[in-house]
Amino acid sequence: MKTIMWFRQDLRLTDNPALLDAVNCGTIIPIYILDDINAGPFKIGAASKVWLHNSLSKLNTALNGNLKFFEGSASEILFKIIADTKAEKLVWTRCYEPWRMARDTAIKNKIRQLGVEVKSFSGSLLWEPHLINKPDGTHYRVFTPFYRRGCLSAQPPRKPLTAPAEIHYASDVDVVITSEQTLDELNLLPSQNWHKAFLDEWNIGEEGAQQALDTFLMNGISSYKLGRNIPSQKSVSRLSPRFHFGEISPNQAWYAAQHIFEPGDSNLDSFLSELGWREFSHYLNYHYKTLADKNLNSKFDSFAWINTPEILKAWQQGITGYPIVDAGMRELYSTGYMHNRVRMIVGSFLVKNLLQHWHHGRDWFFDCLVDADLCVNSASWQWIAGCGADAAPYFRIFNPVTQGEKFDGDGIYTRKWVPELINLPNKFLFCPWQAPPEILKQSGVELGKTYPNPIINLADSRARALEAFSMLPKSK
Ligand SMILES: Cc1cc2nc3c(=O)[nH]c(=O)nc-3n(C[C@H](O)[C@H](O)[C@H](O)COP(=O)(O)OP(=O)(O)OC[C@H]3O[C@@H](n4cnc5c(N)ncnc54)[C@H](O)[C@@H]3O)c2cc1C
Repeated sequence: MKTIMWFRQDLRLTDNPALLDAVNCGTIIPIYILDDINAGPFKIGAASKVWLHNSLSKLNTALNGNLKFFEGSASEILFKIIADTKAEKLVWTRCYEPWRMARDTAIKNKIRQLGVEVKSFSGSLLWEPHLINKPDGTHYRVFTPFYRRGCLSAQPPRKPLTAPAEIHYASDVDVVITSEQTLDELNLLPSQNWHKAFLDEWNIGEEGAQQALDTFLMNGISSYKLGRNIPSQKSVSRLSPRFHFGEISPNQAWYAAQHIFEPGDSNLDSFLSELGWREFSHYLNYHYKTLADKNLNSKFDSFAWINTPEILKAWQQGITGYPIVDAGMRELYSTGYMHNRVRMIVGSFLVKNLLQHWHHGRDWFFDCLVDADLCVNSASWQWIAGCGADAAPYFRIFNPVTQGEKFDGDGIYTRKWVPELINLPNKFLFCPWQAPPEILKQSGVELGKTYPNPIINLADSRARALEAFSMLPKSK
């Protein structure tokens, strides 16, 4: 049987149930479609495009150059490919962004009407959202019961599968597929060279993903529980873009981590539970289809955001005058990544101290992160803003000075990204405006010239945020 293997967010050969199914059926036609038409406002961002280009290039090499590239509305393209190739079957790995689910359901129905077999597989999540319900059949809204009572009490996740031993490609399709493009013609790389620097940070592709997991299991996970909060430490896995693009499956990480620890180890449990948060974000988007856009808690609909373009720009550029915030925003821009602790600090600063709508944070992150994931990003921004499921209470406002002191006490992370403060003593590193003039001078810092004055007063902005919060309707 000639089967189209539609790669999407599963850019790997190992532990890919859809690919194995296709290979077991006979010959395959591996394809990738860049479908920005159906994505609407959630078109893939600039940093993710760079990742995608490189990941597709690696996948194509692994498939001996047989991956075929297309751009446009997936359903139209699939119809054309089926007409051209006379393929008898179409397979893919399921995705969970609401727009993709709606599109895929429509495609399944239409293509089946052609008499073509269509099969989708679970390969991006440990537990698919429709399988996890409360005993009364409704869905969870709070993480701990979702994870402990829902996921951990359900069937264990599938054990990872090996890569196909051999792949046979349909040999007669090269010349017949209309509208096929080259990878370069998808124009995923930017015209300017800003991405070259962050390519040095990452070994993109399936092999790089496996190496990243191995490195984390050897060096990071044993200090994960505490170390995951310290941005200068290499205690986190940095696997998030790998999971998003499916260069590695969560199942591979889930079982590899358990292989090296006794059950109940606190570092292991802490890592597995973060994978659980990833599941929860997808679960929420599955049940609340407008989560990417609309406040889950609708009482926030009347919240008095102040949307100020200059303030937003200063936050985006990392020139707010709050060193830990600026460090995070610059790390993001330079590498396409930001440590989770710092994501929470910069997020809280944006929506609470600066009172900018969480949509602005969502959009900037979506464009700049290499792990930009509609489900995780939206759920996380709603959580930060206080309007999401199981959200941080709005009145909990991170103080960027004490957060810096607590989680980057030696200043290694902040000095790396804000080098103009490199000589400032730790005591003043997170609050340069409090440093006596002679210390500033000795450190080569001139506030307002070499480093900005604080964009806002912390105490005043905190009081303003609490005031805005107090105006929200009490019920709902
Ligand atoms: C405002 C905000 C926006 C975010 N946007 C994204 C996003 O677009 N894409 C994304 O993948 N993550 C996002 N996160 C979650 C988290 O920051 C990243 O997943 C994590 O920092 C990735 O680094 P890591 O792979 O080293 O994580 P590790 O600490 O090694 O964790 C392992 C894996 O668990 C998952 N994970 C960890 N923390 C979280 C979390 N808080 N929520 C959900 N899953 C988690 C990730 O898949 C991660 O790769 C966001 C967090 C915040 C606060």
